[in-house]
Amino acid sequence: MTTFLDEALALLGPRGLTTDPELTAPWLTDWRGRYTGRAVAMASPASTAEVSALVRLCARHGVAIVPQGGNSGMCGGATPDPGGSQLLLSLRRMSAVRTLDPAARQITCEAGVVLQNLHEAALAHGLRFPLTLGGKGSATVGGLISTNAGGTQVLRHGSMRALVLGIEAVLADGSVFSALAPLKKDNRGFDLKQLLIGSEGTLGVVTAATLRLVPAVAERIVVWAGVPSLQVARALLLHCEDAVGEALEGFEVMPQPSLEAVLGHLPGARAPLADPHPWHVLIEVVADALGAPALRERAEAMVASAFAAGLVEDATLSASEAQAEAFWALRDGVAPAERAKGPAVQHDISVPVEKMPDFVDHAVAEVERRHPGVQAIAFGHLGDGNVHFHVIAALGVDRAGFEQGLGKAISSEVYDMVVAWGGSISAEHGIGQAKRAELERLGDPVTLALMRQVKGALDPRGILNPGKLVALAPPDTSA
Ligand SMILES: Cc1cc2nc3c(=O)[nH]c(=O)nc-3n(C[C@H](O)[C@H](O)[C@H](O)COP(=O)(O)OP(=O)(O)OC[C@H]3O[C@@H](n4cnc5c(N)ncnc54)[C@H](O)[C@@H]3O)c2cc1C
Repeated sequence: MTTFLDEALALLGPRGLTTDPELTAPWLTDWRGRYTGRAVAMASPASTAEVSALVRLCARHGVAIVPQGGNSGMCGGATPDPGGSQLLLSLRRMSAVRTLDPAARQITCEAGVVLQNLHEAALAHGLRFPLTLGGKGSATVGGLISTNAGGTQVLRHGSMRALVLGIEAVLADGSVFSALAPLKKDNRGFDLKQLLIGSEGTLGVVTAATLRLVPAVAERIVVWAGVPSLQVARALLLHCEDAVGEALEGFEVMPQPSLEAVLGHLPGARAPLADPHPWHVLIEVVADALGAPALRERAEAMVASAFAAGLVEDATLSASEAQAEAFWALRDGVAPAERAKGPAVQHDISVPVEKMPDFVDHAVAEVERRHPGVQAIAFGHLGDGNVHFHVIAALGVDRAGFEQGLGKAISSEVYDMVVAWGGSISAEHGIGQAKRAELERLGDPVTLALMRQVKGALDPRGILNPGKLVALAPPDTSA
């Protein structure tokens, strides 16, 4: 290991390699504090050439690499194992915007660019990058690509995959796969960049990407509506799609108890509607400069016809940008408010959109029936068929005991239900180390075998992020 560290230091210099525990410690635990690992060192290369040389060195010494961006991931994918022999490879130093072409509406930037900075770089040219999420102050382009991140604008613009036009990545042998040039048409065989998107650092280290931009938002209106059930919320979604089409950008749901939790948790928060409703819906409609003048009229017509069709019990439209922000603060406050209630297990799941209302009713009732005292709640991106399904422990239950014991058993039951309803155990957060066993247990065997073959082809010695997402060989179940 000493030879490896000496050679790595000679390659990267003191700014590019550290073993100082004070500097490495914050990056060895995931942000939610669920996983802690150890690393032989933390490398912070400054260029693709340095990443390439470093990966080559790691391959020669058989040192495993854990790529890391902002460490905002949800599944422990960027945390090394506890063994202390893996190298933490931080991409955060590679934070340059290489080019921004306003006419082509494209930006090419390095993997360490933070999402918030990407938003600002685009806005400076009257454009925007249409993907946002709560971790935007730390999540990086490389991490967003490697987890195929979602967020609150997927309904209109798709997940990260839909926004990536080109990728540059260092492969397991140190070679550089360069496919940054975005050709509208290119039929020279496999679209290999798609393999890297969502591969969680197991197939290559993303060093740069070309991303799609869209015109900046000139006007947005956020509607807050109260509805009697998720079934009606789904009908309201279809209604809004018909009424405003492309202008519909967000459609989020939360039940009344979650709104109450936020109101009790977020200082200064106020309920948008006078009375309680079983479910609340946040609807965002936006327009660029061309569509801005007519947007309010269109949104008002959408809400009026929803009232006429009996789809909403009550609704209000944001009158200002501050009010739109306040409505979103209520939505963004659900996860922290629910966390503050006590020990819980969280599930980021999807089922076909049309089945989601019945699935939620079924799963909430079933979990609460099987485990008296727990509270199950679902909230999130109904428009994408993706909800966050939290199960909160009964009062007085100890956190570690719940999360490692009953909570785990409940999670398996939830995932069984999701699979039975034709859904996915990971809608947008990925697999990492958190869901690996469940993916092995519930994944389609043919799909898993194919994933292993791809892993074997791109990383035959298994040095890229071992222990995450998929292993070269199936787990040994003979014991
Ligand atoms: C408050 C909050 C809200 C969030 N909301 C959402 C949400 O709505 N939707 C959503 O999808 N996510 C959400 N997230 C999760 C997180 O922001 C995303 O998963 C994000 O894509 C992770 O980016 P990162 O740079 O922090 O990656 P990391 O956490 O550092 O890494 C994540 C994974 O990607 C790999 N990786 C990182 N960089 C590279 C690279 N350059 N090359 C190869 N592999 C790499 C890592 O090895 C790891 O497997 C949220 C996070 C927070 C903190």
